[in-house]
Amino acid sequence: MSNSIDWHQRARETSLVVRNFINGKWSEASGEQSITKYSPVDGSTLYSFGEGSAHDVDRAVSNARAAYEDGRWANQSLQQRKAVLNKLADLIEEHKETFALYETLDVGKPITYSLHDDISRAVGSLRTSAEKADKLFSLSSNDGGILAYQQRRPVGVVGAIVGWNYPLALAASKVGPALAMGNSLVLKPSEFTSLSACHLAELAMEAGVPAGVFNVVNGNGVNVGAPLASHMDVDLISFVGSTATGKLIMSAAAQSNMKRVLLECGGKSPYIVFDDCPEDLDAIAADVVANAFPNQGALCIAGSRLLVQESIKDKLLPKVIEHAAKITPADPLDPETTFGALVNEAHMNKVLAYVDSGEQEGAERVYGGERVNLESGGYYVRPAVFDQVDPQQKIAQEEIFGPVLSVLTFKDEEEAIRLANNTCYGLAAYAATQNLGRAQRLGKVLNAGFVMITGTTSPSGSFVEMGVEAHKQSGFGFEGGTAGLAEYSVCTAVYQLV
Ligand code: NAD
Repeated sequence: MSNSIDWHQRARETSLVVRNFINGKWSEASGEQSITKYSPVDGSTLYSFGEGSAHDVDRAVSNARAAYEDGRWANQSLQQRKAVLNKLADLIEEHKETFALYETLDVGKPITYSLHDDISRAVGSLRTSAEKADKLFSLSSNDGGILAYQQRRPVGVVGAIVGWNYPLALAASKVGPALAMGNSLVLKPSEFTSLSACHLAELAMEAGVPAGVFNVVNGNGVNVGAPLASHMDVDLISFVGSTATGKLIMSAAAQSNMKRVLLECGGKSPYIVFDDCPEDLDAIAADVVANAFPNQGALCIAGSRLLVQESIKDKLLPKVIEHAAKITPADPLDPETTFGALVNEAHMNKVLAYVDSGEQEGAERVYGGERVNLESGGYYVRPAVFDQVDPQQKIAQEEIFGPVLSVLTFKDEEEAIRLANNTCYGLAAYAATQNLGRAQRLGKVLNAGFVMITGTTSPSGSFVEMGVEAHKQSGFGFEGGTAGLAEYSVCTAVYQLV
């Protein structure tokens, strides 16, 4: 069905509206500016919207507070909240073509990817939050005549601030656990990708979330994000975005009401290939490319640094280039496209500037990295592969969030580990090895929220979702799993003489 859709026509027929959603109603923004969104595919004006302000944030937070205090959501039984979240997941599936179109128009990602990856991530967040909400452990004891037990309750009002690379899925990853645990929330989507959040809030009401519980305020970081982060009546900021903004949020939280913060920030993840799996090199090269460039490289867990053992570099690198060369940047509304446009001109220029810096600092560009000029215009860049990268170079250290892969070499396991851990980030790590003992050692010493080992098995993109905790400047707090749900709650220990 989705395969037969003419997405260009669908895009022309769809009206693109961004408004605040406060206390169950659409609401005009009170900010002085409006924001214009330009299309990643041709640079034309896609839509514009009035920007929110500190006043709108205040109104959204006070409605969320009132909704929290009177228990219209928090006092519903867990079973009722689960049913509503599952219904919201059903509604996303029902409206998946609309959401996919929004994601593709806003981000520039391929429509086929939006339809499958983005929708399943969002639905998965809501369903697993619903499923796991009653699995949180609780402690009780009856010792020495004292009954002691833990009461877990919602944090209260959650401010959720999210980035642009997976607008719906990132919003759902905050909305799912916040609502499952009984909180009210105010969501601020990225100013570059605001379409899906509005639609999600509307569907949440349809699913049964009471008015005032789930609010959306649109706008940029300064006018909307910062007032939310420093609001005195917000109990938790759950953030996903860059490390630089994460630091500002920590500071705003500290200087206001010492609210809790949950920070999922940037990454510069290594993909380490050892010389002990020579017969798998083609599959490993394909996996390296698949992990380096998904979503046009705008993925926090992208494996953007390839660390390859010296003895096999000459065999692996040509295969990596061969697989990278199969990627053709093209119109994201074409269902055959696997690699779309970059989100906007500023981001494209940032990526191209990193490509320049790679060469200026002495690395060798062995593939891609140039702007691709399609007839439509738009912001397309061919994936870049750099060889001879020095570990201290910018392209080895800084998150580019675009399609640039830096290749470094190592002599032995010790050096591989040192290089892998040699950035300020600690989000993910990938390694190809046949050596089980080595695989276990890597799991112990790499600074990463998760380590994915290929080579001992065939590379695979699927895994059981576990709670993941970022290391170092990639943030802190758990995302996903029961540990992730616990972040949206607080405990009180009760001691009672019996
Ligand atoms: P960003 O930090 O520029 O913006 C993220 C959000 O913060 C946006 O909504 C923005 O408006 C808001 N913001 C900006 N300044 C603010 C301020 N002073 N106070 C409060 N809010 C403010 O990040 P981005 O470019 O939108 O997203 C890309 C980043 O997100 C990358 O670093 C990427 O690694 C990271 N990311 C991390 C994960 C993860 O799970 N760790 C997932 C996706 C994206």
